[in-house]
Amino acid sequence: MDKVGETVLEIDLEALAHNYNYLKSKLLPKTKFLAVVKAFAYGSDMVAIAKKMESLGVDYFAVAYVREGVLLREAGIVTPILVLHPQPVNFEQLITYQLEPSLYSPKILVEFLKTAREKKLKNYPVHIKFNTGLNRLGFWETDVDYISKQLDNRDEIKITAILSHLAASEDPDEKEFSDTQIKIFKKISVALNERLGYSPFRHMLNTSGIINYPEAQFEMVRSGIGLYGYGNSAIEDKNLKPVAQLKTIISQIHKIEPGETVGYNRAFSSEGYRTTATLPLGHADGIGRQYGNGKGYVHIKGKKAPIIGNVCMDMIMVDVTEIDCVEGDEVLVFGQDNSADAFASSAQTISYEILTAISQRIKRIIR
Ligand SMILES: *Cc1c(COP(=O)(O)O)cnc(C)c1O
Repeated sequence: MDKVGETVLEIDLEALAHNYNYLKSKLLPKTKFLAVVKAFAYGSDMVAIAKKMESLGVDYFAVAYVREGVLLREAGIVTPILVLHPQPVNFEQLITYQLEPSLYSPKILVEFLKTAREKKLKNYPVHIKFNTGLNRLGFWETDVDYISKQLDNRDEIKITAILSHLAASEDPDEKEFSDTQIKIFKKISVALNERLGYSPFRHMLNTSGIINYPEAQFEMVRSGIGLYGYGNSAIEDKNLKPVAQLKTIISQIHKIEPGETVGYNRAFSSEGYRTTATLPLGHADGIGRQYGNGKGYVHIKGKKAPIIGNVCMDMIMVDVTEIDCVEGDEVLVFGQDNSADAFASSAQTISYEILTAISQRIKRIIR
């Protein structure tokens, strides 16, 4: 593969296709698949990922905010797009771009109905979100009657689907809690269908839900992290392929004498003769300060080089004393050989956080 020559995020669309097929193999053929592409497709490239997923025949996309959905439509995406966390101030735009809102509270429902009436909409598709235990967003089980009353004798909106979200789908110790959430969701669905006289389709599972609770796949599932190559478990990580690889190069090498220090606030102090490499990548690129001072590490020539001293805005320094390397050599921060999950855990965080932190100023290369 060509030398990168600078800091880049390589995006492997074949890995994406592999992950999609793997996750689909866990599901019934008729189950619809929603690709979660919020936060620039988990820090990669939202448009490139969405175009590939659309070409693979994905049924739905989800984003968190209206603005993200607008970007997808402007890029030519025609697949239905669910907006998980819309705000009333963006409802007009949401409608203009034919995005489907997740309505999660009485206030949001009433505000959306108001806009729908003003715009004289007819059967506009909406998803109703129920809280079954995460206690983050959603109507209560006891709101079924309230919701149906709001819709009685009105046709501006149509409940296309209902959804809920598991609180701990990746944690086997929480199986009982997850099973209870699933049970509550089923009960809600039965009660709502009876009241509405039709049956909106249902979706509840995220990636770990697909793996651990396939019996609750209902009519659609929503996957994010799995598509990007991470399965929240060592076993599943082996079945998936990381889509994003963060690579950089060595800008400069320094020989450090005993007693010298490296970086801001002299945070690294050398006890012996050390060789350090400076890399063009810092906290403004998404490598937070918690990766500094020996916690995080990168890979050079297949060997681990710890990040020493404080992370700077545009640079980090790594210890390469034991590595035979020169200025211009390639550096792997995370990717197929050093997973984003392993990199993240060096700083007590998770793959989701490091992936979505990678800043937009880093060049994306689609492979
Ligand atoms: C982000 C998100 C997902 C995707 O979860 P993964 O664990 O990345 O698969 C699914 N559903 C909702 C409501 C989300 O906010």
